[in-house]
Amino acid sequence: MTPGQRDYAVRCTACAATATYPAYRCAGCGAPLVLDLAALAPGQHRPGAGIGVWRYAGMLPRTGHAVSLGEGGTALVPLSLGPSTVYAKLESLNPSLSFKDRAMALAASAALDLGIEGLVLASSGNAAVSAATYAAAAGLRCRIFCATGSGAWAKLDVARAHGADVEVVEGHYSDAYRHATTAEQAGWLNVTTTYRNPLLAEAYRPLAAELVEQLGGAPDVVVVPIGAGPLLHGVLRGFQDLYAAGATTSIPRMAGVQAAACAPLARAWRSADWRAALSRPVDVAPTAAAAIADALHGYADEGLLTLCAVRDSGGEIVAVDEAAITAAQHELAHRGLLVEPAAATALAALATPAVAALTGADPAARVVLLLTGHGAKEPHRAGE
Ligand SMILES: [Zn+2]
Repeated sequence: MTPGQRDYAVRCTACAATATYPAYRCAGCGAPLVLDLAALAPGQHRPGAGIGVWRYAGMLPRTGHAVSLGEGGTALVPLSLGPSTVYAKLESLNPSLSFKDRAMALAASAALDLGIEGLVLASSGNAAVSAATYAAAAGLRCRIFCATGSGAWAKLDVARAHGADVEVVEGHYSDAYRHATTAEQAGWLNVTTTYRNPLLAEAYRPLAAELVEQLGGAPDVVVVPIGAGPLLHGVLRGFQDLYAAGATTSIPRMAGVQAAACAPLARAWRSADWRAALSRPVDVAPTAAAAIADALHGYADEGLLTLCAVRDSGGEIVAVDEAAITAAQHELAHRGLLVEPAAATALAALATPAVAALTGADPAARVVLLLTGHGAKEPHRAGE
């Protein structure tokens, strides 16, 4: 057992019924499930001797295994941009070049604990590479459903290189999601990185602790590219943990950003009735930021978790167009940071009035951009 980890219970987000992990939806009302983690014990947020995400094992749910390839602990670099102090958190430098590795280290560990033979997931590419990587490291099988609309051919080749079975599904991400939910019934651990698996978003809590350690306190704003948004949700929960434990005196405002080509959460955010807005079909146009293009068809209620998290933090959700994404990607590349278009949306979001207003043009405000994925996996989308 990894020392100092936290006990957890699985709870329905709608009716408060409890469930036993692994569970994916409330048996009573069908709503998404989340984990309730025990409160942090004094000092439990401090880094320990583990490697990768297990360095902050005290912030993670209890597992018996601790699979790691050295994920997490990513660099935070300052960018000279705008009136505020802006930093880039290089999640693009995780072992499989995206932030998903934090979740898959936890997922692979849980699968070993449960004696499950393999990981199955829907993916737009990054999660596929990450799941295949960590399944290989843990000696697990891996089965991936990826939609044609994601266009993630290069990423799928990487997943296959790690031994994963890849099935290409006609349509968009939500179509792949449906296939993965069928496979979970055959006893595979569904590690689709929406909120489908309630364990996975909790893997992002240590990212908050890393930022507090790197900055000497919480930033004022964290900008997060979002599909369904569990990364944003998990990072906020980490800050809430740290605040409750007295390890930081503030909690940042969370800014979610989507590509305008597929932006169900940005659309719902601006509406008076989130549920009604989410239940309306989303037109999905082609976007370079395919990694965050999730129409939430069939699981729009998962999006509510992200909307509530952003509201609770006093944040914003915005959409940015293709020209802004490309310009941001070039800007970062010319500063030595090669990221994929989905990651570049974080920089593009800074130029929107809604996100700019979060800092109030305060030169002392500290803004962190989560650069979620590296550009090297998609050289054809790396620009110029
Ligand atoms: Zn329920």
